[in-house]
Amino acid sequence: MSNVLYRNFTLDLPQIAKGEGSWLWDLSGKKYLDLSGGAFVNALGHGREDLIQRIADQMKKVSYVNGWHFSSPQLEEYAPKLLKHAPAGFSHVALLGSGSEAVEAALKIVRQAFFESGKTTKHKIIARSPGYHGNTGLALSASARKYYKKFFSSYLTEITFVSAPQEYRSKDIDYLAELEETILKLGPENVSTFILETVMGSSGACSVPPPGYLEGVTAICKKYDVKIVADEVACGAARTGDYFASKGLGLDPDVIVLGKGVNAGLIPTSVMIVKKDIVDVIQQGSKSFMHHQTYMHSPMMAACALEVLKEIEKLNLIERVKTEGTYLGSLLKKELLELPHVGGVTGRGFFWGITLVQDKATQSWFPPEDKVVMKLFKKAKELGLILWPVVGDSEAEQSDSFVIAPPYTMTREEMDVGVSKLKELLR
Ligand code: PMP
Repeated sequence: MSNVLYRNFTLDLPQIAKGEGSWLWDLSGKKYLDLSGGAFVNALGHGREDLIQRIADQMKKVSYVNGWHFSSPQLEEYAPKLLKHAPAGFSHVALLGSGSEAVEAALKIVRQAFFESGKTTKHKIIARSPGYHGNTGLALSASARKYYKKFFSSYLTEITFVSAPQEYRSKDIDYLAELEETILKLGPENVSTFILETVMGSSGACSVPPPGYLEGVTAICKKYDVKIVADEVACGAARTGDYFASKGLGLDPDVIVLGKGVNAGLIPTSVMIVKKDIVDVIQQGSKSFMHHQTYMHSPMMAACALEVLKEIEKLNLIERVKTEGTYLGSLLKKELLELPHVGGVTGRGFFWGITLVQDKATQSWFPPEDKVVMKLFKKAKELGLILWPVVGDSEAEQSDSFVIAPPYTMTREEMDVGVSKLKELLR
């Protein structure tokens, strides 16, 4: 019996011995194609000895000092380098340890700035359903996953949800009107934040918002002085073919959070970037952001984020994800949409969702007891294929989908192999 408290007690998990590029090998020598980059993390491929060496070289100088005591050259070099990719108006960067932590920090800095500017009643958060922002208190509160909250609702704070448009399951409703009505109902003087995933991740099969939606969100939030937090933990860091998805898609947020691709799986690191007007309020007030964590801004995280960003720039990966993502998307659509139970293939860049349905005409889900995605996920591993399984979004606990999010370095030949294995699996 293992002494490890695994996430799921029924899965029999092979131990991985090594990784190289888009491939993993377990202890028995079995080979897997990593079509999901784990949880959309392995942006630069596995076994990157050169990159790991560059991070290690920086860590040999110093790996940890507390952000209360010291800064570091890596951190000072990283912040302006990252901001060159950001939409206009962003001036400050914070490093944290996980997507959830960055979301917590983002929701808190907005609230603190409103409080310090005298708008003390502005505290309510609006989030979207479907939507996912993490597993810590505030982040889980803002996530529309009922089954994640089942045991913990008494610990969570109240958040108001509005509907999120989905590419495959679009509803005949006015999403923007719903947002505006919700702000008015809560009272604009009480609403601080609207948090949304710029491109939806696992909750919404990588849905790209319809034209005009993000511009509309921006206009409504500006009208009522509601700050926009763009959660780009999954879709940011070049995953959708723009370094910041907001910049490519017409959203003008006040805070953006990144994770996953920012660290490419090397050292857990997440990022929050903040607009100058928010920081200015705190600068003129308390002069201290009231959210410190032990590893915040540590040189090891800065070294990782810096070297990963340099690598993305050196290999021209933003452009590569754009062009090769068009190939990947067309391939997935061409090969999979003809299958009887593939309802939707949605996404952008190297970020695609495959939605499975029982009946395409009615878009009906498979019964939850069939556990379709988990069965396919297990079978995929037998075939040597790694996919990200999604069982249940916020609205339908039985929904079934997969996310495809390969390393930005994946070749067309590897995509062809992966998609053909996926087709074989779904058949
Ligand atoms: N936001 C989004 C959009 C995510 O996809 C995730 C992770 N799947 C998170 C936040 C939370 O990140 P972490 O698991 O690193 O805390």
